[in-house]
Amino acid sequence: MPESMTPEAAGADPAEVLRRVFGHPGFRGLQAEVVRHVVAGGSGLVLMPTGGGKSLCYQVPALCRPGLAVVVSPLIALMEDQVAALRQQGVAAAALHSELPEEAGREVRRDLARGALKLLYVSPERLTLEATLARLEERPLALFAVDEAHCVSQWGHHFRPEYRGLAVLAERFPGVPRLALTATADPRTVEDIRAQLGLRDAPVFRGSFDRPNILIAAAPREQERAQLRAFIRRAADGSGAGIVYCATRARTEQTAQWLRAEGHDALAFHAGMDAAAKREAHRRFARGDAVVMAATVAFGMGIDRPDVRWVAHLDLPRSPESWYQEIGRAGRDGLPARALLLYGAGDIALARHRIAESPAPEEQKRIERQRLEAMVAIAEAATCRRRILLRCFGEEPGPEAPDPERCGRCDVCLNPPRLWDGTVAAQKLLSAVLRTGRRFGLGHVVDVLRGRHTDKVIQHGHDRLPTFGVGTELPDAGWRSVARQLVARGALDVAVEGHGELVPTEAARPILRGEAPVMLREDTLAAAPGRKAAKAATPGMAGDALFEALRAWRRQEAAAQGVPAYVIFQNDTLAEIAARRPRGLGELAQLPGIGRSKLDRYGEAVLRVVAAGGG
Ligand code: ADP
Ligand code: ZN
Repeated sequence: MPESMTPEAAGADPAEVLRRVFGHPGFRGLQAEVVRHVVAGGSGLVLMPTGGGKSLCYQVPALCRPGLAVVVSPLIALMEDQVAALRQQGVAAAALHSELPEEAGREVRRDLARGALKLLYVSPERLTLEATLARLEERPLALFAVDEAHCVSQWGHHFRPEYRGLAVLAERFPGVPRLALTATADPRTVEDIRAQLGLRDAPVFRGSFDRPNILIAAAPREQERAQLRAFIRRAADGSGAGIVYCATRARTEQTAQWLRAEGHDALAFHAGMDAAAKREAHRRFARGDAVVMAATVAFGMGIDRPDVRWVAHLDLPRSPESWYQEIGRAGRDGLPARALLLYGAGDIALARHRIAESPAPEEQKRIERQRLEAMVAIAEAATCRRRILLRCFGEEPGPEAPDPERCGRCDVCLNPPRLWDGTVAAQKLLSAVLRTGRRFGLGHVVDVLRGRHTDKVIQHGHDRLPTFGVGTELPDAGWRSVARQLVARGALDVAVEGHGELVPTEAARPILRGEAPVMLREDTLAAAPGRKAAKAATPGMAGDALFEALRAWRRQEAAAQGVPAYVIFQNDTLAEIAARRPRGLGELAQLPGIGRSKLDRYGEAVLRVVAAGGG
């Protein structure tokens, strides 16, 4: 069998492959179950959050089963990084896509024909070409893996028409296991994937969506840049990357420019850029050290970098699913990471108006409305934010949770907001809006409440209103907070197509009549909880001399090979090495993330760096 040309003989034990090839001591969560199922020839659908460890679910079976494993992936950058990482681990992997230079493409086809490949990454459009399918029919196949399988669903925001063609796999290769993988757990998308990929009778493996290493926080957007600056200062560790999600293309450019002025290596990314510019941005993000990307949600799939330390949103995401997928790009290496959401009343109103006016069918609008309101509830949470978020994924705290209502890893748990009775304040604000004729934005309404004789107040005679000056007990920011929370609970609307006029809704009536008490949250301006972690002292943390020396060695090695640094070793592996200071290859081999191939390639060099002690 030509397959014996690759080092991983078929029939190998999965746990042994995991240890020997990938250097991991054990499977995580559902991995073991999925791997057992696929190795035995079963098909299925895997739902795990970003960073949950989906890749190993097909990579290990690929090495345990005879034949070639074909992995469908929607993004070239993603394919290439995966292939680079696998080759580092001594696995015969290659990618086939439209941007491969002709000579390289010929070489891949040659390797394929002589059975020298174990894993082939391929774009859906390439795979579904008749020529490719015919070529694959001549080969023994281990499995098909369809990564980012939600691209098959028209319901999501990532629909890729080419994915629809994958239905052919079930027809042409009925005996080959098909494993679909996605981080989107929304029931409609799940049903779509099962229908499209012929997985109706196959099991669904649903992992926990909790990502406890990501500390989550949200705050009203008051001074965006000061808030972002403070957040980055807490979250960045000097080496890992960061992402700032912005609602518009213009905002990505402005934010990237500002970040550069702040001294960051910052780039912008949005769908309007041409393919080459996008690829270059992806490349710089994957290869760079502490890169910051200011991006629209177009920057998403294909971010494989495990050491993204933080993700910030400058605008309200449209659903908890999108938000979670975006912040899930942080901390894939399992080390502490942070997410911050900034939002304003205008975002909420704008998103509601967009849905109301969209030409979409009523059923879809209803779903979008539900998602948006769930997102608003998370932003305005007065109880554990993670709890509310996970409930959106149908996940309840397990019996082992120390306190089911407090995760201890979100801003609300760490720094519970004080609630205050805002009934009177809400009434004052609503009546100032009504008395000024629902024709003014918040700035003017606050001027009236605070009793300011501005030109506009005098011009309209608003200093003669009974509500003039009745609101001196709160500062401007306090009134903005009251207004935002009234918008969030649907008692106030903002005329986003007009000039931002405030308009009370039906839900304002019971408040004005004193029939609905209004409990409000006291906003803290702090962008995120927790003090900056002490650095420099802990072995294996940024600042530790040996850790830094190992990183410098890795940077050189990565540059010499033209691959991202993390495919050489991930930060957690370097941290372990720095903490344990192994003295020989035997000790080094025991550390997580060091498989046989990496031990052979880098063992001696790493031991030399350790012996030099980073001094
Ligand atoms: P996903 O594709 O689900 O977003 P990945 O497959 O990229 O996640 O895995 C996320 C990170 O977790 C990677 O850095 C990977 O090396 C690590 N990882 C996955 N499974 C294990 C395991 N069993 N032991 C140790 N690390 C793991
Ligand atoms: Zn919490």
